[in-house]
Amino acid sequence: MSPEFKLIHQHFTRPTSHTTLSVGDDAALIRVSEGTELAISADMLVAGTHFFSNCDAYSLGWKSIAVNLSDMAAMGATPKWATLAIALPEINNDWLHAFSKGFFACAKAFDVDLIGGDTTRGPLTISVQIMGEVNFGEAIKRSGAKVGDDIWVSGTLGDAAMALAELQGKLVLPQEASAQCAKALHLPQARVKLGLALSHLATSAIDISDGLLADLGHILEKSNVGAAVDLQRVPHSSFADLRDKNTLHMVLAGGDDYELCFTAQSTEHAKIRRLAQQLKLPISHIGNITPHKELVVLGIDGNALTITEAGFDHFNAIS
Ligand code: ADP
Ligand code: MG
Repeated sequence: MSPEFKLIHQHFTRPTSHTTLSVGDDAALIRVSEGTELAISADMLVAGTHFFSNCDAYSLGWKSIAVNLSDMAAMGATPKWATLAIALPEINNDWLHAFSKGFFACAKAFDVDLIGGDTTRGPLTISVQIMGEVNFGEAIKRSGAKVGDDIWVSGTLGDAAMALAELQGKLVLPQEASAQCAKALHLPQARVKLGLALSHLATSAIDISDGLLADLGHILEKSNVGAAVDLQRVPHSSFADLRDKNTLHMVLAGGDDYELCFTAQSTEHAKIRRLAQQLKLPISHIGNITPHKELVVLGIDGNALTITEAGFDHFNAIS
């Protein structure tokens, strides 16, 4: 067996449950359930750009699929299949063992099959494509937000950005907070269950990978509307002090949260509150959709912060 096949066999071949043919042939074969559409998404993680080259291999494996699951969540799709294209600078079996352990731990937790991929030598790069099913016509798009809709966010924002700031030596957190933030950064939890439950409730949704302001901005743009967000209601960890400018920035505009931001009619308010209880996941009503095509954040001091095109780098108090 060639070293490449041995590697694939050892590290990336596991039993599957949603395929007719999996890893080992020229292509995998899948049968899509009747009445569904395929939701397909890919994400690429490049060493030095999206993660530190020396980062923990298990976490990297977990995260490389989790970020894709998050896209399925945002569409209200059930993730089922993934492919993995990976460029490796060398064959390091210990590293591959830990990486695939993390990858399959996350895949298993969400009942996703790894059905194929490609393995090549090169600067460490990981590209996962995910495929999921969504009932015909029921996908949640970015374009459905309507004036008056409530804007909601799951979980808390800013933890992952704080962990990154800590890794960069820009911030020191108390031990417990540091551990919580590191977990958010390295082992993100895709909100797949929430996404599925939202398919009949939400008018639009997006997963927050580039920060709330940027990602909510995508909903506004696609839906041709604006938003008023109340900073006091934006969910953040208790140790994040929003009076501190850098922290405020991390909560509103930090990346890697992988929470969902969605809109829903105000008549669904009670249902969404109940859903939060069922899922044991905080879901916060942070503001409303407006007809004015801008994103206004009402600050803690009552002043409005306007968000410019350049996004998170420049937001200025206007009053
Ligand atoms: P081909 O040369 O036909 O593209 P490969 O030799 O690249 O086939 O791959 C052999 C099999 O292993 C294929 O089924 C492919 O999908 C699978 N595969 C290759 N790399 C990976 C990987 N990193 N993870 C999962 N499956 C992989
Ligand atoms: Mg190939």
